[in-house]
Amino acid sequence: MKIAILGVGYVGLVTGTCFADLGNSVICADIDSEKIDKLNQGIIPIYEPGLGDLISKNSKEGRLSFTTNTKDTIKNSDIIFICVGTPPKENGETDLKYVEAVSKDIAESLENYKLIVSKSTVPVGTAQKIKNIIKENSKTSIDFDVVSNPEFLREGEAITDFMIPDRIVVGIENERSKNIMKELYQGIARTKRPIIFTDIKSSELIKYGSNSMLALRISFMNELSRLCDNVGADVKQISHGMGMDTRIGPRFLQAGAGYGGSCFGKDVRSLIHMMNSNGIDAKVLTSAHHVNEEQKLIIVEKIKNTVGDLNQKNIAIWGLAFKPKTDDMRDAPSITIIKELQKLGANISAFDPEAQENAKKIFPDIKFCKDIYETVQDADALVVITEWNEFRNIDKIKLKSLMKNPYIIDARNIYHPEEFNNAGFSHVGVGR
Ligand code: NAD
Repeated sequence: MKIAILGVGYVGLVTGTCFADLGNSVICADIDSEKIDKLNQGIIPIYEPGLGDLISKNSKEGRLSFTTNTKDTIKNSDIIFICVGTPPKENGETDLKYVEAVSKDIAESLENYKLIVSKSTVPVGTAQKIKNIIKENSKTSIDFDVVSNPEFLREGEAITDFMIPDRIVVGIENERSKNIMKELYQGIARTKRPIIFTDIKSSELIKYGSNSMLALRISFMNELSRLCDNVGADVKQISHGMGMDTRIGPRFLQAGAGYGGSCFGKDVRSLIHMMNSNGIDAKVLTSAHHVNEEQKLIIVEKIKNTVGDLNQKNIAIWGLAFKPKTDDMRDAPSITIIKELQKLGANISAFDPEAQENAKKIFPDIKFCKDIYETVQDADALVVITEWNEFRNIDKIKLKSLMKNPYIIDARNIYHPEEFNNAGFSHVGVGR
């Protein structure tokens, strides 16, 4: 099939590359010419394990190409994936300006039947909006369909998630588009992954419902961790015990520094906005959002309670990305935590295996280090904000010899407190 990908970010690049790898002919278009130039030179603009190899293989084999020419891309394709960003406005509402812009591009380039797939995370009713924009801006009355096909991939696991998804959700309104989507996904469905066909509005809301449910779980565990801190229980043992209940399951039950990333925060706020616009007081989600905002400040409180006055103290930070295996700094808890520490006068040195380049744009004034040990040189405390695997088994003796004070604020609960306390550290976890 001939596929166009409009918007070559985390989702568009993975989607386009994986569809190319399944044998389709894919053109990826983006307005960011610097990004397209890089891709055409074989430079991958994001860190995503395995993606580089897959891009180079499919580009060499002629199934995958990159361009800034959106209109030609649309003309030369049968299926058009909208993968542009859908950032939040100040009030939490989703800003659809990029979706609207590509919808106009599609309208102006429509010469024969196209199936338009809305893959960006968009508020309920957006597929209809896309349809209206195309109808209003098209000079001809060419037939087209719009379907909703939300994406559930996780950064860091994006290729596996795309190729072996838990489920593929497609919102449709006629048999024609259903059959095309069935055919398109047959390579993946062959791995026995279910395709669920729903009406379009339900499909749009499945995405928000899913991300919000995961965010709720995290916020609930973070709130529970506060009680653990007060009464001396261990939230890790509680997660373990709760997670063994098959009605609950073990995932997304970890207390820590709060959720971040480009999706959870924005999608929760967007769903709150959708509910409020429909006269519904989104009590549960609003609380989840507040708990998450507080959680980052609770980490700062823990640092203050451990170190004391932070003025001119050296604080080492391990991990800046919003989660491991990505370089994505969008809405990362590290941003709030570091900014608060800076307000209190702390000197920050930091290390992240992949996110440093992106973090430099946010923090021009902190010291970026080449490895974990350089970061802790003369540190008054170490704060672990992202649970990269390489932070797990560390040389405690070396660490202690480098630090000024052996304080560890383990904001992701990756260490055994006794092990560190026995090695002469003062370990502070979350809810332990
Ligand atoms: P991103 O910001 O990384 O990429 C979006 C891209 O769209 C950018 O490269 C931008 O230049 C491009 N773009 C903007 N306007 C354009 C236009 N008119 N024509 C062509 N390209 C244009 O965004 P992302 O993280 O890939 O997210 C895309 C969508 O997918 C969002 O709605 C997001 O909520 C959703 N989503 C993201 C993830 C994730 O993990 N990142 C997961 C699931 C769903």
